[in-house]
Amino acid sequence: MEKEKSAGQLLKEKLCTSKKHSGLKLSADEIRTCFDFCEDYKVFLNDAKTEREAVIKAITLAEKCGFTEFKSGMTLKEGDKIYFNNRGKAVILAVIGSEPIEKGVHLAAAHIDSPRLDLKQNPLYEDSEVALFKTHYYGGIKKYQWGTIPLALHGIVVKKDGTKVSVNIGEDENDPVFCVSDLLPHLANEQMKRTPGELLKGEELNIIVGSMPFKDDEVSEKVKLNIMSILNEKYGMIEEDFLSAELEAVPAFKAKDVGLDRSMVGSYGHDDRVCAYTALKAILDCKNVKKTSVTVLTDKEETGSDGNTGLCSDYLSHFFYDLAECFGADGRKVIAHTECLSADVNAAFDPTFPDVMDKRNCAFMNYGVCVTKFTGARGKSGTSDASAEFVGRVRSLLDGSSVIWQTGELGKVDAGGGGTVAAYLANMNMDVIDVGVPVVSMHAPFEIVAKTDVYMTYKAFYVFFQE
Ligand code: MN
Ligand code: MN
Repeated sequence: MEKEKSAGQLLKEKLCTSKKHSGLKLSADEIRTCFDFCEDYKVFLNDAKTEREAVIKAITLAEKCGFTEFKSGMTLKEGDKIYFNNRGKAVILAVIGSEPIEKGVHLAAAHIDSPRLDLKQNPLYEDSEVALFKTHYYGGIKKYQWGTIPLALHGIVVKKDGTKVSVNIGEDENDPVFCVSDLLPHLANEQMKRTPGELLKGEELNIIVGSMPFKDDEVSEKVKLNIMSILNEKYGMIEEDFLSAELEAVPAFKAKDVGLDRSMVGSYGHDDRVCAYTALKAILDCKNVKKTSVTVLTDKEETGSDGNTGLCSDYLSHFFYDLAECFGADGRKVIAHTECLSADVNAAFDPTFPDVMDKRNCAFMNYGVCVTKFTGARGKSGTSDASAEFVGRVRSLLDGSSVIWQTGELGKVDAGGGGTVAAYLANMNMDVIDVGVPVVSMHAPFEIVAKTDVYMTYKAFYVFFQE
């Protein structure tokens, strides 16, 4: 016989919030669904390490699901699926709903750029018979984390005649990789006195790319010449072509299960491909939607969203205007009635570093998709701060659809802070809230997320579109 609950127990159940690990809430089958979902996510992580590759991958998957390229002025009807490719670095995908578009759109916005080392414009040099690439780091990194890990080179080279070559070295099992060196501890007495931000300095993030000379006593810088000769053979490029190239060094390792229970995924670039993938998958899977549903996968978030592929530019609002025009609708009304889930990661509580978190208000792994009312630093500087009304709206949506979710603030007050694209979207005059996956070791070359949270984030976007 079950013991009868006391008055206090009953009252507590009624009045007080209780939190529970997803592993205790979900059935074995449901947990398996979460784990299975992450198998395809790992493939996405490995295939799309850069914004350009993520756009190609998203469009390939979308076309398989019947999406076609959007042209302004085209005739659109309920159920149509379209995509808009912004310069190969950002993409918008939409499924047309049954309700008039002026009633607003359900939008999910994630970013597909991640912290990395970009090659400088004149990258290649030889020093003491070693060939190296100069880099300029992209996004917020702890520079020391980028030494002595295998790096792959991704990107494009635009040659003098305008032709474009894609570069991808270091991902294939048989490919060579590259590396930023670090000092041996035996000789690091002076280096270890530096502040951690300077342990590896920006100008020390030089990538080793070769050490064999071109056999000819008549020329200088033989190792560099040998590297140029290999690049010329492989890509038909000359040194000057580096000037019009975008080459990005990213960790060469693949996404892997983490833990004996395989409950987590470790990878480069969860921020923010974990939200990009889940928002993409949700738009591909949704059908018979009432509100027109839109996923935007944007670039440049890690550098502040400026630039014509970042969300501070007008490309998203212009898309809304063009889309509205197809229905003879007013773009301004479409935007004003739009609801947006700003799909970005948040920091997960890390038991090794508890001091930076307010345990009562931060996100935990395996407690579901994280809904963040506000971001920012100090006195909420730079936040859009979702209204109580909109938080209430999202709360009832998620609760009504059995999505496991939690709230999370990015660290303690005054411990630091950060922002997402939410503010830029809110500035367009739509309702926005941050929704995404908690991440351990965010912005490190190898970040960790929990599989149940990844699935719950997908489910949140899916029920939002499908509502
Ligand atoms: Mn992010
Ligand atoms: Mn980030």
